[in-house]
Amino acid sequence: MGNPHFLVIPYPSVGHVNPLMQLCEVLATHGCNITFLNTEFNHKRANTADAALENFKGPQIKFVTLPDGLGPEDDRKDPKKLIFSIKTHMPHMLPKLIQDINALNVNNSITCILVTVNMGWALEVGHKLGIKGAVLWPASATSLATCDYLPKFIQDGILDSDGNPVEKKEIELYPNMPMMDTANFPWCGLDKTLVHHIAQEMQTIKLGEWWLCNTAQNLEPAAFSISPRFLPIGPLMASDSNKSALWQEDTTCLEWLDHQPPQSVIYVAFGSSGVIDHNQLKELALGLDLLNKPFLWVVNSCDSNRVNNSYSDEFHGSKGRIVNWAPQKKVLNHPAIACFISHCGWNSSMEGVCSGVPFLCWPLVKDQFVNRSYICDVWKVGLRLDKDENGLVSKEEIKKKVEQLFDDEGIKARSLKLKELTLNNVVEGGHSSENLKSFISWAE
Ligand code: UDP
Repeated sequence: MGNPHFLVIPYPSVGHVNPLMQLCEVLATHGCNITFLNTEFNHKRANTADAALENFKGPQIKFVTLPDGLGPEDDRKDPKKLIFSIKTHMPHMLPKLIQDINALNVNNSITCILVTVNMGWALEVGHKLGIKGAVLWPASATSLATCDYLPKFIQDGILDSDGNPVEKKEIELYPNMPMMDTANFPWCGLDKTLVHHIAQEMQTIKLGEWWLCNTAQNLEPAAFSISPRFLPIGPLMASDSNKSALWQEDTTCLEWLDHQPPQSVIYVAFGSSGVIDHNQLKELALGLDLLNKPFLWVVNSCDSNRVNNSYSDEFHGSKGRIVNWAPQKKVLNHPAIACFISHCGWNSSMEGVCSGVPFLCWPLVKDQFVNRSYICDVWKVGLRLDKDENGLVSKEEIKKKVEQLFDDEGIKARSLKLKELTLNNVVEGGHSSENLKSFISWAE
C-alpha cells in the first residue's frame, strides 16, 4: 500500500480550519498526501492574510476550493446560513472534484476523507464512492461526548425536543467528569433548526470510523471510556506550527514583549468570536489599569475603537498593548507572559496548557464553562473570575484574582508539570503519537 491521501474538509471557521491545518502538517511529516478543500471565500481571505497559506503549502499539501453557495454580501458569521448553504450546494459538486483530483493523482487517489463537524455530508459522499472517512473534533472530547448524548438527553426528558433544558440542573455525563450545567450545553442558545442539525450531524459523522480529538488522554481520561471511536491525537498545537490561517496577525507585539520583564505580562484574549458588552469592556479596561502591570489585550477592531475612543478619559492603558489579532501561540510561549485571561475556548485552553501558562478563566458561552472546570478544578492550573451581583466581572475582581495568581506558586508549578505531561503525548512513542500512527496505517 502507498501513503494515504487525505481529502481534508474543514467547516470554514477559524476554530475548525486552524486545528485541521495543524493536523495536516503533522500528517505531511508522516509522508501523507493532503488535498485541503477550502471554501472559495475563505481561501481568498487566507491568501490575503499574510503568507499563511504560502508557508503552509508544501509538496504534499495542495489546495482546492468550492463555492459555499453564499453571495459576497451574505453574513458568513451566521452559522445557520452558512451551514445550510454549504449542505445545499457543496455535496453535488464534491464527486466531480474527487474525480478531478484522482485524475491528477493516478497512483495516489484519495484514500480517506477527513472532515470537521458540520461537514458530515462529505462523509456521505465518500461512503457512496467507497472512500473511508474520519472526523476531527475541534473541541474537547468531553464536548464531543456531550453532543453525542444529545438524542439521549431528549429521550431521557433532560431536554425538550428542541434541545432546551427542561429544568436548569447540573449533571455528571460520565463518572469522573466535571459536573455540567444543562444551560451551558454546546448547543444552548442556538436556533432549534441548528440543534436538530447537530443531532442529525452526530448520526451522520458515525460514517467516520474515527473521531480524532485534539486533546490528550491525561487531560480528559474519563471521556475516552465513553466510546472506542474517540481517538486522542493531540495536542496538535504542540507541533512547531505557528500559523493562524485566516486572520492577519499583528506580530509587532512580539517585539514589544521582548522588552518586558520575564513573567510580567497579562495576556487577554477571548478567541475568534468572544463578545463582551460595553460595560464589561470598560470594567476590564479599568481592571487592567488598576493592576498597573504590562498587558497584551486582543480586541476585535470594533471593540478596539470603543476602547480607544470611548474610554480615553478613564482608561490609560499606558502599560499595555492592544492588538486586533495576536500570534497567540508565540505570545503564550514568550517568556514575558505571566498569565492568560481566557474565554477558555478549547484551542486556547490547549495552547495555554502547552505553554505552561496559568489561566484566569472567563468563559462566555457553552463548552467554555466545562473547559473552565477542567482548568480550575481538575488540572488546577487556573483561577475563576467571578461575576458580581450585576453580572459583571468587576475591576476589583480582576485585580484581586490576577494578584492572587501572581503569588500562587502551586498553580505555577502545576502548570509547568501539566505542560510536560501533556507534551509527552506527542513525542515519539507518546500516547497521541502512537494513536496517530495507527490512524495513518488505517487510512492507507
Ligand atoms: N487566536 C489567535 N490570535 C488571537 C486570538 C486567538 O491566533 O489574537 C487563535 C487561538 O490561538 C486559537 C483560536 O484563535 O487557536 C481560538 O480558538 P478557541 O477554540 O480558543 O476559541 P474560539 O475562537 O473557537 O471561541
